[in-house]
Amino acid sequence: MTHAKGAADAPFYLPQSDECTVFEAAHENGLPVLLKGPTGCGKTRFVSHMAERLGRQLYTVACHDDLAAADLIGRYLLKGGETVWVDGPLTRAVREGAICYLDEVVEARKDVTVVLHPLTDDRRILPIDRTGEELVAAAGFMLVASYNPGYQNILKTLKPSTRQRFISVEFGFPRPDLEIRVVAQESGLDEDRVRVLVRLAGKLRALKGQDIEEGVSTRLVVYAATLIRQGMGIERAILAAMIEPLTDDEDVKRGLLDLVTAVFG
Ligand code: ADP
Repeated sequence: MTHAKGAADAPFYLPQSDECTVFEAAHENGLPVLLKGPTGCGKTRFVSHMAERLGRQLYTVACHDDLAAADLIGRYLLKGGETVWVDGPLTRAVREGAICYLDEVVEARKDVTVVLHPLTDDRRILPIDRTGEELVAAAGFMLVASYNPGYQNILKTLKPSTRQRFISVEFGFPRPDLEIRVVAQESGLDEDRVRVLVRLAGKLRALKGQDIEEGVSTRLVVYAATLIRQGMGIERAILAAMIEPLTDDEDVKRGLLDLVTAVFG
């Protein structure tokens, strides 16, 4: 295996647990991986870090409710009066032995899961109906998908027949000591000033399910710290980055601001 790139170029990622070891073992054995966890807790960063570490090209697809199998596989396009086949990101990854990351896979249309099934068992094949090809995945190809089990949408869960084809790794918000390091590194704000933001994040997360649907993400704590480092007042930064994104309800907002006063007061 040739490693054109390597760990030294990998984007910063602070492990929460043994997820790097699990990912490496899955990659070594050509097994697909499902990353479960709330938004903004480091899943995408983890995948780019691992792809770089393993020296693999990465194709990332942000799934949405209009995403169809053809968007992943490819389609015939008209180019200069000629009809030519253009590979989609999944097909490219299969041919090149790259990593294909399907972010929020449950959002995609149903026909996408059908395409994934023959790729996630030991055949590792991608049938392309339109061209009649049946591609066998090149060595190094790996399918990675993420989903957020927190969304209470019964129509948007992964079917057991799909989820049981993946090794699964659960992501949560990092432990406070780790999150402080992540936020300080990402924002450039010193750890002492970050600590209290992380404490506030912990309190806001404890309210999940009562007043707010999702707890504040690490991404939002990074945003708040970035604004503060840049000179914005702490309360203003927190309101913009850690309160407004969570709710539109004025009463709830007032309640959350009381919490801010309690933490900083
Ligand atoms: P997700 O894909 O889970 O929605 P991201 O990977 O985009 O979340 O993470 C959001 C941001 O949080 C990243 O851009 C990064 O700044 C930060 N982050 C979260 N966890 C980590 C971590 N363990 N190491 C480094 N950065 C992290």
